[in-house]
Amino acid sequence: MDLKLFNTETRVKEIFKPISPGLVKLYTCGPTIYNFAHIGNFRTYVFEDILRRTFEFFGYKVEQAMNLTDVDDKTIRGALAQHISLDDFTKVYKKAFFEDLKSLHIEPVEYYPEATHYIKQMIVMIEELVSQEIAYKGQDGSIYFSITKFPSYGRLSHLDKQDLQVGASERVAADEYDKESASDFVLWKAFDPERDGDIYWESPFGKGRPGWHIECSAMASALLGNTIDVHVGGVDNIFPHHENEIAQSEACFGCQFVKYWLHAEHLLVDHKKMSKSLGNFYTLRDLLDKGYTGHEVRYMLLQTHYRTQLNFTLQGLDAARFSLQRLHDFVFRLENASGQGTAPASFLPAFEEYLADDFNISGALSVLFDFIRDTNSLIDQGKVGPNEASHILSLLKKVDKVLGVIFLPPPEVPPHLEELLQKRVQARKEKNFAEADKMRDALLLEGYLIEDTPTGARLKKK
Ligand code: AMP
Ligand code: ZN
Repeated sequence: MDLKLFNTETRVKEIFKPISPGLVKLYTCGPTIYNFAHIGNFRTYVFEDILRRTFEFFGYKVEQAMNLTDVDDKTIRGALAQHISLDDFTKVYKKAFFEDLKSLHIEPVEYYPEATHYIKQMIVMIEELVSQEIAYKGQDGSIYFSITKFPSYGRLSHLDKQDLQVGASERVAADEYDKESASDFVLWKAFDPERDGDIYWESPFGKGRPGWHIECSAMASALLGNTIDVHVGGVDNIFPHHENEIAQSEACFGCQFVKYWLHAEHLLVDHKKMSKSLGNFYTLRDLLDKGYTGHEVRYMLLQTHYRTQLNFTLQGLDAARFSLQRLHDFVFRLENASGQGTAPASFLPAFEEYLADDFNISGALSVLFDFIRDTNSLIDQGKVGPNEASHILSLLKKVDKVLGVIFLPPPEVPPHLEELLQKRVQARKEKNFAEADKMRDALLLEGYLIEDTPTGARLKKK
């Protein structure tokens, strides 16, 4: 089946054709690790996970890089404020990020490059741009990219050429700015002890550090090659970040950087973008503390089409919990179906068609829920037998390769409780039943029941 993607650059849905047959080279802009990521960030990462899993579902192998921005204005500011090294500062948030990915059941990707490990590659790119006279040294000692030297500058964000004329004589050293201030952007920031403390790298242009945009260009080409299939981020990355990535990479390597650009719409709160600067954010941890599970948050984030804004409310999260419960109840009913009858029509072709149409997950879910409603009614009438039920369960397992919310991995048991369980197993082997009962009671106090299964004892939450 053809897979159609909405390409931000052309603004139309295009049929996906990979550079190498059967392989998708995918680059996704990752977090700046100066704080805990909020669930707005995770909306984008959950979408990227759905996209990756959809490619896999349709038989592609995916080679993906998600970078970690571990040097920029914000990380430097944070490290200096706490009087610790940049590495000590960012490692806390890096660890938290990976824990959050796991809670949200996001598949691990092939590469998680950290910007500070690719400074050499960034310097090589900047040297090339300087030698082509596309980049130049400003009066402040920093190196800038001259946007007038790259004729198709603005093509991703469809910038007005008129606006560009105005901006071309200006320079911007900040990493983030809006379209109205489109201008020459920084590739290498000259060291400023007041701002940067003792954080700098040596380079042929003097002490300093890379601009944010060159980080992604260098990591993408180092890991995936000079032309990649798909590049994704949130819509706020279109300008300036991705526009600048195109300019740097194409000017440097002389070939197309990205074939398909995809951008996820924002998660909103009270109809404003969820963001650190507005202070209107929830971290995943805030929601876990309120008693929601990672899977409930995942479901809430994935159920809306990625090109539609999603307004976050706790009621919306409760509705996601309810939908997931329906899915899990359905699995339970199928596992226990004992009626007689013929298999209901499959939902899979329609589900696949929606997915292949620019990852239309909301369409795909509506097909699934219609099927659940119809099948539940057949189960009520005793018309679904074990064979049909097991066929449907196998279809659900297939679609859950994309959704990742139906068949949940068993929750991890804390190691000290696992140890208690093993002690109980040993005590029973030694016929020391008093000791075994003591272990059982201790586990009960911690909220766990022991389940004896054919493959041995395991713990289950009460
Ligand atoms: P940042 O750490 O700000 O660079 O953001 C990391 C990723 O999260 C980028 O791809 C952003 O576009 C995305 N992002 C930031 N805020 C939101 C939001 N409210 N909704 C969806 N994605 C977001
Ligand atoms: Zn990036």
